[in-house]
Amino acid sequence: MPDPQVGRVYLVGAGPGDPGLMTLKGKALLEHADVVIYDALVSPEVLQMIHPQAELIYAGKRAGMHSLSQEEIIQLLLTKVQTHAVVVRLKGGDPFIFGRGGEELLALQGQGISVEVIPGVTAGVAAPAYCGVPLTHRGLSSSVAFVTGHEVIGDYQSQVDWASLAHSVETLVIYMGIQQLPVIVEALLHAGKDRDTPILLVRWGTTPRQERLTGTLETIVATVKAVNFAAPAIIVIGAVVGLAPPP
Ligand code: SAH
Repeated sequence: MPDPQVGRVYLVGAGPGDPGLMTLKGKALLEHADVVIYDALVSPEVLQMIHPQAELIYAGKRAGMHSLSQEEIIQLLLTKVQTHAVVVRLKGGDPFIFGRGGEELLALQGQGISVEVIPGVTAGVAAPAYCGVPLTHRGLSSSVAFVTGHEVIGDYQSQVDWASLAHSVETLVIYMGIQQLPVIVEALLHAGKDRDTPILLVRWGTTPRQERLTGTLETIVATVKAVNFAAPAIIVIGAVVGLAPPP
């Protein structure tokens, strides 16, 4: 039995932006939350679902604003759950998909804290869907991989094997990849991926600010540069992109 004096941490996925994609379970928790610690990519409409008396703490990274380190966030969760019943850790999309939710879960459980995970609609599924792109499709794609494009930044040795992904997976969905797009495209082409492979970029997917860009592995880098297409965006690479209706 958990200590009745201590609350519970709910690791909640806020979905990709459109408030209609918030889960009913997540929404109910926001309505009953005592404390909500939220990230940068949580949409304002979802924040409006939070109980007006709840303590709201911003933890995310946004240019020019102070953000908490991962250690500080975990510490904060550990402190708040000692005195509050419902502590919500609210993350954009799904908490476990490139959201560091796993780290928080393990750290809290390691301290004996009760944690419940409420999945969310991840941007890598929702953004292509709002553009009419099915990630799998009979005859075109029977496999899909979610990949981070972020790990190739700086000195950090990437764990992503682009060459094997180029051959083994039919649809690639890349998060945090805009900055490294030239490197990623080069790696895929080097591995022998067809230059004509279609590619879709979706920025601020499912929100009123949604923007999309299409091209091929051959053309996309120049197009991104020409229109100054910026993060946050999802990149989809594969034949399924060809199924997208015109914007
Ligand atoms: N946990 C989140 C992903 C966090 S990583 C999820 O499941 O969706 C942050 C990256 O997600 C961004 O850099 C971008 O690549 C992507 N992303 C998040 N929200 C997005 C949106 N509304 N539209 C497009 N990309 C988005």
